[in-house]
Amino acid sequence: MRVVGVDVGGTKLAAARDEPGAELVVVPTPQGAAAIVTTIVDLVRRVSEGPLDGVGVGSAGTFDERGTVVAATDLIPGWSGMPLADRLSGELGVPVVALNDVHATALGETAAGAGRGFARVLVAATGTGLGGAFVRDGEVDVGAHGSAGSLGHIALPGLDRVCSCGLSGHAEPYASGPGMERSFFEATGVAASLPEIHELMLAGDPAAVAAIESGGRVLGRALATAAALIDPGLVVVGGGPARLGDLLLGPARAAYRADAPALLADVAIVPAALGTRAAVVGAHAAIRARLSR
Ligand SMILES: [Zn+2]
Repeated sequence: MRVVGVDVGGTKLAAARDEPGAELVVVPTPQGAAAIVTTIVDLVRRVSEGPLDGVGVGSAGTFDERGTVVAATDLIPGWSGMPLADRLSGELGVPVVALNDVHATALGETAAGAGRGFARVLVAATGTGLGGAFVRDGEVDVGAHGSAGSLGHIALPGLDRVCSCGLSGHAEPYASGPGMERSFFEATGVAASLPEIHELMLAGDPAAVAAIESGGRVLGRALATAAALIDPGLVVVGGGPARLGDLLLGPARAAYRADAPALLADVAIVPAALGTRAAVVGAHAAIRARLSR
């Protein structure tokens, strides 16, 4: 079976064949939905180098079962309503599965990354926001509205920042990259990027330590709330801020243990293993699952 996986990001499009050592080809994301579809088709033809059985695509947005974008932020104009899987399948002449990029990342980490071997994995995706997904027996449980696993929109006592969704008290504006940057700014009046705050933390700057540790604690509290409902065997944390490693995950683990039900207190919280390749690997897993049905 020869399949290609595609990751549609806000700034980059990445694709690779599902073969050991296959090159990950990355191109800039063009402006607008129609141009993105054309670029995906070109990219798939370029990396497939021969007969193809199917394509998996992970992308920002909420998808229905047919692979149509039912909701999307304004990041990609015209993306909402795009029948992405049908459009690509028509152009490429093979089955196409399209799914949310966080869901694809979670599938990838579970199929071939940090969550390998676990039947129930909660995957958190930190970055500009705080997303997540619950993978059960190799499939993402997307929920009734396609939004299961939305860790960032868990409301926690003591939080009052306004979230990207418009409500206040959610975890995302604390446990995301911008959230930790804001914590640092509120304490110091200095605007710094997360990598800069990381450097300051390593140099022992107390405000930098506090900003990242408070982000980690909110992450851990949100994970404990989610774990109480779904009882995962493992928690995997991915995304840019997860590169802080134990500086972020240490406080997250401590806060998780303090809030989680006793039976779940020892569930491991581990960093993602596949890096920027995770969504492409998950897209491979999604199309393989569809083709083998
Ligand atoms: Zn929210």
